[in-house]
Amino acid sequence: MARKFLVGGNWKMNGSSQLVSQLVKALNEGSWSSNVECVIAPPAPYLASVRSGVREAVGVAAQNVWVDPKGAFTGEISTEMLKDLNIGWVIIGHSERRSIYGESDELVGKKVAAAVKAGLKVIACCGESESERDADKTTEVVFRQIKAIADQLSPKDWANIVIAYEPVWAIGTGKVATPQQAQEVHKDIRNWLAKNVSSDVADATRILYGGSVSAKSSPDLQKEKDIDGFLVGGASLKDKEFLEILNSRQ
Ligand code: PGA
Repeated sequence: MARKFLVGGNWKMNGSSQLVSQLVKALNEGSWSSNVECVIAPPAPYLASVRSGVREAVGVAAQNVWVDPKGAFTGEISTEMLKDLNIGWVIIGHSERRSIYGESDELVGKKVAAAVKAGLKVIACCGESESERDADKTTEVVFRQIKAIADQLSPKDWANIVIAYEPVWAIGTGKVATPQQAQEVHKDIRNWLAKNVSSDVADATRILYGGSVSAKSSPDLQKEKDIDGFLVGGASLKDKEFLEILNSRQ
């Protein structure tokens, strides 16, 4: 089954009205293959203006969401609000949410389930730290994180899930995983899905690589069989480089 290549831009807590306009303009004027889907994740205060400013074909994602539809949850954003603003996507379980804000595997699983049930598409993140990799625990950690998500989903929910494998040691460090390192984990994740969810879900689910992806590393990474796209942080804030990454796949 053909998996459409997806390039996501995770702006994290960066930008200003001025930078947002510049990036939106670049995406509206730029071009890339119709075989490549683009989703950008601006900070929450800019979601509405990005959605109304960027062309329809570009997906817009929140960087986080809460599990309850509304109520006394100061500082949080609901799935209902995202839908109200016509925001189709949300990133959940990013390693910064896990490490800085203490989001557990279980909470990440609940958020993913709440988002999918509300009709949003989810980029669900997983990935091991450097010490976990050094201790040969990469698959143990990644499988544990994915199991906590899978436990909350029914097989049909997977149609709206994209997995992002982001080794923590590669995020924001300039230390990109080699294509072989990334491919190995992507293949392990796909095998896990085949064994624990279904072979159809394993074939259809897109697995993105994230961690210091740049215009320099993307051409080789995209050649790997189980790499179905990227989640780009720092380089997604540079309009020309992000367009180059989008164009690394034809
Ligand atoms: P980076 O971030 O590309 O700056 O390493 C990736 C991410 O955290 O999604």
